[in-house]
Amino acid sequence: MKKVGFFSFTCCEGCIIVFLELLNKKYFEYLKKMKIENFRQIKTSEKIKKLDIAFVEGAISTESEIRKLKEIREKSKLLVALGSAAVNGYPSNQRNNFSKNKKQEIQKLIKKFHQLKSVEPLKSFVKVDDEIPGCPVDEALLSKKIDSYLK
Ligand code: SF4
Repeated sequence: MKKVGFFSFTCCEGCIIVFLELLNKKYFEYLKKMKIENFRQIKTSEKIKKLDIAFVEGAISTESEIRKLKEIREKSKLLVALGSAAVNGYPSNQRNNFSKNKKQEIQKLIKKFHQLKSVEPLKSFVKVDDEIPGCPVDEALLSKKIDSYLK
């Protein structure tokens, strides 16, 4: 039985929804093969446990997200970037390419919400073991990848 966690950073959380939809087909199979330890959308406790697999969606936009991502990395044997925001930053990183004027315009908000200068993918801060691209991820590909991790 693999211990699994799902985590969301700066994103629309659409890739986690794809996983929830996948449960319509795979729930009883996964029930035998994985124990979900962390999953903010369905569990109240966010204490990060020791994990076999961490699925991480979203890009990184604050110092607190960096700290949490590093803790997930320390506690996980396999860390998987789930979706393009986690893999390469897009679309969560669109403000990185704003014009100089636009960047000045949003400066107050950047400070107010303790945002980093730029929004970056997971691999800018930690080692990522595997990547599942797509915005959102393709359900069939996600299913295939999960099957390979649960072997
Ligand atoms: S990759 Fe796209 S769909 Fe998935 S969480 Fe990020 S923004 Fe949402």
